[in-house]
Amino acid sequence: MLTINALIVKQKHDLSNEPVQLKQMGLDFYEGIVNGHQVVVKNEKKSLGWTPSTPVKVKCDCPNFQFQWAYSLYKQDALLDPQTFNLTPPKKTNPAIVAGSCKHVTRVLQEILKTVK
Ligand SMILES: [Zn+2]
Repeated sequence: MLTINALIVKQKHDLSNEPVQLKQMGLDFYEGIVNGHQVVVKNEKKSLGWTPSTPVKVKCDCPNFQFQWAYSLYKQDALLDPQTFNLTPPKKTNPAIVAGSCKHVTRVLQEILKTVK
């Protein structure tokens, strides 16, 4: 499992000024739209609320997420709906299988921490 903090990674193209449409889908689910991409975040330890150390599962519909991050997150049990992804090792984009996230996931997690106290 990975915490929110572990999934907020420094991005080459930082989206921190990009607006996010954040929607709570239930006690333990958020959906966020950034730049037309849909991110879904599931809280894996509701008793913690939404804090930097809350473990979560995530997914995004962008190609970078599919090709660079989905497999590594799957290996850490942090990928939401793994059956909807093509889970082959990312030999070119992430050969060391480093856990991380695309810029949309990072942006949505930042927004969740800002919004939810
Ligand atoms: Zn993305």
